[in-house]
Amino acid sequence: MKRSTVIPAALAVAAALALAATSADAAPQRKRAPARQVHPKPIPVKPVVENPIADLPFPKFDHGPQVASTCTTGLEGAMLRLKELEKRKPGADWLKGWEALYDWQEDQSGALIFLQNVHPNAEVRMESAKCEQRWTAFQTALGMNELVFQGARQTAALLKDPVDKRAAQRALEGFEDAGVGLSRDKQARAKAIADKLAALGQQFNQNINGAHVRVAFTEAELKGVPESLWKDQPRDADGRIALPIDGPAYTAVMQTADDAGARERLWRAKTNEGGPDNLKVLAQIEQLRLEQARLFGLSSYDDFVLRRRMVESSAQATKFLDEVRAAAADEDRRNVIELRQAKARHLGQTLDGTKLQRWDSMYYAERIERERIGLDDEAFRPYFPPQESLRFVMRVAEKMFGIRYDKVDNANAWAPDVQAWAVTDVASNRKIATLFVDPYPREGKYGHAATWNFRNAATSVPRQAQSALVVNFDRRGLTLRELETLMHEFGHTLRNNLSATRYASDAGENVAQDFAEAPSQMLEDWVYDKKVLKVFQEVCPACKPVPDELVDKARAARDFGKGMQVARQQLYAAYDLALHGPSAPDPMETWEKMEAATSLGYVPGTTFPSGFAHIAGGYGAGYYGYLWSQAVAADMRTAFAADKLDPKAGARLRATVLAEGAQKPPQQVVKEFLGRDGNAQAFFDWLKK
Ligand SMILES: [Zn+2]
Repeated sequence: MKRSTVIPAALAVAAALALAATSADAAPQRKRAPARQVHPKPIPVKPVVENPIADLPFPKFDHGPQVASTCTTGLEGAMLRLKELEKRKPGADWLKGWEALYDWQEDQSGALIFLQNVHPNAEVRMESAKCEQRWTAFQTALGMNELVFQGARQTAALLKDPVDKRAAQRALEGFEDAGVGLSRDKQARAKAIADKLAALGQQFNQNINGAHVRVAFTEAELKGVPESLWKDQPRDADGRIALPIDGPAYTAVMQTADDAGARERLWRAKTNEGGPDNLKVLAQIEQLRLEQARLFGLSSYDDFVLRRRMVESSAQATKFLDEVRAAAADEDRRNVIELRQAKARHLGQTLDGTKLQRWDSMYYAERIERERIGLDDEAFRPYFPPQESLRFVMRVAEKMFGIRYDKVDNANAWAPDVQAWAVTDVASNRKIATLFVDPYPREGKYGHAATWNFRNAATSVPRQAQSALVVNFDRRGLTLRELETLMHEFGHTLRNNLSATRYASDAGENVAQDFAEAPSQMLEDWVYDKKVLKVFQEVCPACKPVPDELVDKARAARDFGKGMQVARQQLYAAYDLALHGPSAPDPMETWEKMEAATSLGYVPGTTFPSGFAHIAGGYGAGYYGYLWSQAVAADMRTAFAADKLDPKAGARLRATVLAEGAQKPPQQVVKEFLGRDGNAQAFFDWLKK
């Protein structure tokens, strides 16, 4: 779960232009952004280059106009710095100016843009969102700035020091991807394609979300589904209950409706969302992306996107996905047999005469989980009170990474119950970051769990990191899954807080998109470890220890059906790559062929790609990233095989991965951490276990 907004100036442009979005998180997301307090003073005529303020106070806003004027001040300051940068000589001096512009953007826009998600005042939230648009426009224009592009190009060629050179090179790549290096007519075409792709992406979503599809059921057809999930839903003229094809009602029907016909109708409606129009839109998107890649001299959109990722090329992504398919095959088959057995038992049929349908799998998986595992998520809440859960994840990080969290004054935070924590490096007793935590639900606040890393540290200038962990704790306590989500999001804050790169533009999570999630995904497993869970008693001696048996059940529930799930993700990812390859094949024909080859086959009359919003939007050619970073996470976890709290492995993770940010290529970062080249073996072993 993460979000990213604004920043890497040129990178943002590339994203806007290529629609090559952000991270691989499925759900809520964390934002990375920039910002700071108003500068009520007039802007100096001769811009100051450095931003010598190590630790900024969080900007305090009481009403909308303050946000708007702060936004204007920030943009004016950025424009001055940009004008000054245009005149700089290529080389070290240019890079310094570039980084100063970057820092300024973060300081002026980061916290301010973040506020649209959390500020109690609706006017402030609205102005914060408007300000984000203004910064995006600034960055889009910056990406097409010929003078700065030339400065980056020459600087990247001149500089010798590897860190400096890479920083300049990354700036240059952002400009290149934005298209500033293309001839005038190609530039115009690239812009037209980008605009068209943005419009088509919106149309695709509109065809899904604007249709408001509902499917009507009698009460008898909903037998087995908890009444609370349908009793308040609207009724049609015949008094039948009209259920939406999204949200908790959909999941509840698929998991618990005893009537297979009811499940089938809802499943078909969901699978066909977007309709035939979206198949046409998807085909157009695919063609335009291919044309876009060709403008840049590449033979496929896959390669256009993947050359900037950890996976590096479509060939490597394809090879990885082939291996995943092979590794998941046996477990996938086993899962299907288990579900078929459950169905045969339930209906009193022979196994041979029982076919598992796509609308059966969630239903029988749920039955098996209930019968065999018998886990009640709610049972965890008494063991994990909210504030102690927060202290728990902090304590784990303290043990692993040699840091300390101290609660400090929150006078400047956006709401009274927001907590501010100083993060201190124990060895040097030096404060390195501020972590804000917004723990409980509030009117107008972002409703899921996410992290916004809105200020990045640097070692070349006095500059400390700041991030915000936004969650919505249940005051009764957390379930283990919620504790897992907390650990994941907290992992994102660690990457920001413990970053120690020379430049902020290389810091924290400004890494390749398919590497951004790995440390957080790695840490998810920590909450299933009994030794780690014992740390809870250190922060809450009065809390009753969670029973081992509950943890075992939770682990079994988490892993049940992994073969089918991974096989499905593999199919999505392979389809995405196939669609964005060198030939732009027909979306529906390609899907039918690929799904037909899976264990449950293709269901005639269905059009899954018409609702596949991920690949029509920002995840085009990026869907493999879910599995890829799961594999990287599993690989990194091997360093903690003996002890998840091992301070030596923790110190190494901090030094080689968390501190290094994007200063080195991700493959190299992983290699330095593990002492060998990275591989997917641990992920495959888990699949086969
Ligand atoms: Zn995440």
